[in-house]
Amino acid sequence: ITQLYGPLNWFGNHYRVIQKNFVDMEKMLDLFKEPIEVKDPTEPTPLDVKGGEVVFDNVSFAYDPRRPVLENISFKAEAGSTIALVGPSGSGKSTVLRLLFRFYDVQEGSIRIDGVDIRDLKQKDLRHMIGVVPQDTVLFNDTIKYNVMYGRPDATDEEVLAASESAQIHDRILTFPDAYETKVGERGLRLSGGEKQRVAIARTLLKNPSIILLDEATSALDTRAEAALQTSLLSKSRTTIVIAHRLSTIVNADQILVIKDGRCVERGTHESLMRMRDNGVYFDMWMKQLKDEMGLGGLARMESVG
Ligand code: ATP
Repeated sequence: ITQLYGPLNWFGNHYRVIQKNFVDMEKMLDLFKEPIEVKDPTEPTPLDVKGGEVVFDNVSFAYDPRRPVLENISFKAEAGSTIALVGPSGSGKSTVLRLLFRFYDVQEGSIRIDGVDIRDLKQKDLRHMIGVVPQDTVLFNDTIKYNVMYGRPDATDEEVLAASESAQIHDRILTFPDAYETKVGERGLRLSGGEKQRVAIARTLLKNPSIILLDEATSALDTRAEAALQTSLLSKSRTTIVIAHRLSTIVNADQILVIKDGRCVERGTHESLMRMRDNGVYFDMWMKQLKDEMGLGGLARMESVG
């Protein structure tokens, strides 16, 4: 065991140094593996934060030119609306989010925020506008307060507290030995998957971006906790793009895009997609999920869902 600690500590220390130097921690998160350099424009369009309308206009993209990953993806997320991306594993959902965060440039088409092509913005400004709540949150070996404040290092204590309350982690934090000063992470208090997700949500709420990207962000919570949190996350004052595997979490989305093999094969509200019944990919996904979750009994509930 002691042999293991050496390299772990080494990694921990270096990791921390790297972290401190990152302008934006989203870079490190699992959602955005292997970022490629993208260049700032020589004459960037100044940041003019409006509502956060997101437009994908015929976007095609491949990590490797021999294998297209997204083909002609188009959608418009009105400012303040919620768009959900669903579809089989590997269909390209996370890639959509990575492109919006501009870890890669599109090969065809364009992505616009409030009418501005994201290639015309400074990276720093773009990422300032977008908050990401990833699948797996990396916590720093530091206090819980530091971890929440990472969303906005100049926030006041009151703001940190308010964000934690909205993320429904404040009461839990008060039970920790040193409350907000409790050290967390590998070398401190270990948080559960659900607690980590709440910290990530608090961090993002504190950042208060006009666009939020959620990648299965509440998957570690039970259904009731998840529903409660969604309410505080889905504010009309920002645009939300959410990747969901648990379909029950996105029934209220303004628009659901079903991505399959890199193409958008269906789009609409939950109700309109369910009306497609046996001909629909979304409908099939619901049937499958109900069967998996509840056995055959779930089928009986089908009517109430549709
Ligand atoms: P999941 O639901 O499993 O997270 P997804 O729909 O989000 O999947 P993506 O992560 O967008 O899918 O991946 C789409 C395709 O692109 C997959 O075939 C994947 O193997 C490939 N891919 C993803 N990241 C890279 C990368 N960095 N380099 C090369 N191929 C990649």
